[in-house]
Amino acid sequence: MEQDLTYKGTVAKTTGSWYIVRNEKGDLINCRIRGNFRTKNLKTTNPIAVGDHVQFKILSEENVGVIFNIEERKNCIIRKSTKLSKQTHILATNIDQALLVVTLAFPRTSTGFIDRFLVNAESFHIPTILIFNKIDLYDDSLEKLHKKLVEIYKDAGYTCIATSAFEGKNIDILKFLMKDKVSLLSGHSGVGKSALISAVDNALQLKVGDVSTWSEKGKHTTTFAEMFHLSFGGDIIDTPGIKEFGMVNIEREEISHFYPEMKKFLYDCRFTNCTHEHEPGCAVKEAVKRGNISEIRYHNYLNILNGREMDIEDWEKE
Ligand code: GDP
Ligand code: ZN
Repeated sequence: MEQDLTYKGTVAKTTGSWYIVRNEKGDLINCRIRGNFRTKNLKTTNPIAVGDHVQFKILSEENVGVIFNIEERKNCIIRKSTKLSKQTHILATNIDQALLVVTLAFPRTSTGFIDRFLVNAESFHIPTILIFNKIDLYDDSLEKLHKKLVEIYKDAGYTCIATSAFEGKNIDILKFLMKDKVSLLSGHSGVGKSALISAVDNALQLKVGDVSTWSEKGKHTTTFAEMFHLSFGGDIIDTPGIKEFGMVNIEREEISHFYPEMKKFLYDCRFTNCTHEHEPGCAVKEAVKRGNISEIRYHNYLNILNGREMDIEDWEKE
């Protein structure tokens, strides 16, 4: 009997029952999954997602691949498939880092949004780098706000960089951070994700732009992630619908564990299940009072704890 050759690759795109897999040479191969694969994981609506490392065979008579094995995942981003469902949808897997693009003007990204994102990313074990884009638009007051926020997020343990896709500022640093890594590209629409990508890698310009435009228009609840290879090494995962990067499986008492700067105080609270809201003997509240934890971060923590949406920056009025 003829021996089947097996290949390895990474899932770059999924479209329902088809998977586009990039093999080790960089070629894209259309694959299906072996019939009995679907039943293996009943908790998810999709058995394989973008970023998965898979093994496949080529069916020469059809010239397509058949995925028969998926390697263990380093991490994955999931969300509930529908509001009431117990099933989850896997958005992407094997992510080295999230690049959260934020802007202080046109549009203004709220710290509430940033903190909610960071909590989610921490819960998925994905380190996040904050990219403050459009710094060419700063006046004195935005410059001041920028400095304040960078200090807060650096103190919390996050790498922050300041870029201008327009002026090409610090694009080399961004490139360095992205090289040979799988990066999830996130941030509100209009913050300059496409512009930054074309600044780091001209070859990608059109592709990423296409996806973003398409995703803005698409009214479907299903979102498909897509992975793009960078010409200098590394990959970007673009996930439309990042706003729905919702809390899955995070208990109230757990939220503070996803605030890196709170972690070291948690064990000094009087109660082990302290939510750091109203309990006496709370070491986190003490740390906020002493200035060891940012008031803004704590304010957003309380909003996340109580499931409040935060689009208005209350603290700005102070
Ligand atoms: P996306 O929705 O996050 O992909 O954002 P785009 O890349 O489409 O950019 C949204 C708008 O912001 C466009 O009009 C860009 O030209 C503009 N933009 C992007 N980066 C910068 C920047 O660094 N400075 C300025 N002034 N505008 C930018
Ligand atoms: Zn506490």
